Amino acid sequence: MQLRIPPDVSAVVDRLQAAGQEAYVVGGCVRDAIRGIEPADWDVATNATPDAIQGIFRRSIYTNRFGTVIVRIGEREIEVTTYRVEAGYSDHRRPDEVAFTRSLEEDLSRRDFTMNAMAWSPAHGGTIVDPFGGRRDIEGRIVRAVGDADERFREDALRMLRAVRFAAVLGFTIEPATAAAVRRNAGLAEALSGERIQQEVVRILRGPVPSVGFRMLSNLGLLAVIAPELEACRLTPQEKVAAENVFEHSLATLDAAAAEMPPATPADEDLVLRLAALFHDVGKPDTYDDGHFHQHEFVGEAKVRQILRRWKFDKATVEAVAHLVRHHMFWYQPDWTSSAVRRFIRKVGLDRIPVLFALRKADNVGSGARAPRMYALNELWLRVQEEIHRANAFSKSDLAVDGRDVMSELGIPQGREVGRILDELFERVLDDPGLNTRERLLALAKEVARRPRG
Ligand code: ATP
Ligand code: MG
Repeated sequence: MQLRIPPDVSAVVDRLQAAGQEAYVVGGCVRDAIRGIEPADWDVATNATPDAIQGIFRRSIYTNRFGTVIVRIGEREIEVTTYRVEAGYSDHRRPDEVAFTRSLEEDLSRRDFTMNAMAWSPAHGGTIVDPFGGRRDIEGRIVRAVGDADERFREDALRMLRAVRFAAVLGFTIEPATAAAVRRNAGLAEALSGERIQQEVVRILRGPVPSVGFRMLSNLGLLAVIAPELEACRLTPQEKVAAENVFEHSLATLDAAAAEMPPATPADEDLVLRLAALFHDVGKPDTYDDGHFHQHEFVGEAKVRQILRRWKFDKATVEAVAHLVRHHMFWYQPDWTSSAVRRFIRKVGLDRIPVLFALRKADNVGSGARAPRMYALNELWLRVQEEIHRANAFSKSDLAVDGRDVMSELGIPQGREVGRILDELFERVLDDPGLNTRERLLALAKEVARRPRG
């Protein structure tokens, strides 16, 4: 079987083979190449020991005890790993020990799914080693555990999340016996580190139709373990055109956010919006009363913080998502006064309004609501623009004074106090555009500086 592999990668395989060693490209890259997709990274497996690998490649480093040598070739770094088996996963997430083996098949048998347990060598016109039927399963679009599924998931509970991620992202189904084993072992996901959960959740979220993966997590009993707050939304009724419970409404909102994401959206902003869409109503189960969800945005804000912290998201992401959840319930009416519009800008923060509106649009689509609400959103956007034009202050940097002016006028050093004063000046200018002159702002700065913070 012939696969296209980059010249640098085949050069690594060739050199190992020329030195009398076995060498194959292996794992996810074989899977991708068979599917006709350019792999993100190429991994090479060999029976050569790390010492022998280092003897063959001068530009290489061996940094861990797991048998992986990083070989630099051309612009690439290729991971070359000695065949190995893992033993004794007493904590359901990491092997107690790793042992090298001379057998490729043994190495393949420790891998998670049949499609990830293939090896390929360019020698003799291309040889594939596929002991578990990986090609058949790719053809059938099936995620199937290698060997005994229960055992594999007990060894490493992350494999259950990987099964869902592969199925969701590739559009595969999880083979019934493998799925049944996930259901039986879902509780073991409790022991997984937040970082590893985050990695899989993010990949599911970034998929084209992300609801698929979350519905699968829920149906297999994994969501109840990793995000019980979201699972609870399934039992919370919701009278929406597009969904009968809060979970389905959240997924519809998530899909709408994914579908309407402008192509140039920076990756971090994209992720923030998807997370906010998924979790925007996570406060509803606890606030449900008589068909209403009083103040669910505040409860939701606290819950989403807990969830994202548990999954070790960075502080900026947690804050941005929590802020969106907290503010997603604004009700614009055409009779809002200018000062109400300005209050809204102040509360939300000018630079966060576009993403809040994107969330709200997705929320509307996810509710099955259409034109009138969208119209109100557009109108509010126009009024926001009008206010910031009038104030001639789109952001703090458009003020007639800057931090240096404030520092020299007040004789204070650089620091948070300067920021606090500029924030307040900006707010005052939004309320009264006439204040945006150097003279008036410096006078105001003195006044603000005299007042205690808070
Ligand atoms: P992708 O790179 O698209 O996330 P991948 O399958 O290549 O998918 P990697 O984390 O790069 O994932 O792992 C490379 C290979 O190592 C996998 O194809 C699989 O053979 C093996 N592998 C990775 N993680 C596990 C695991 N938790 N259990 C068993 N085998 C694994
Ligand atoms: Mg990979």
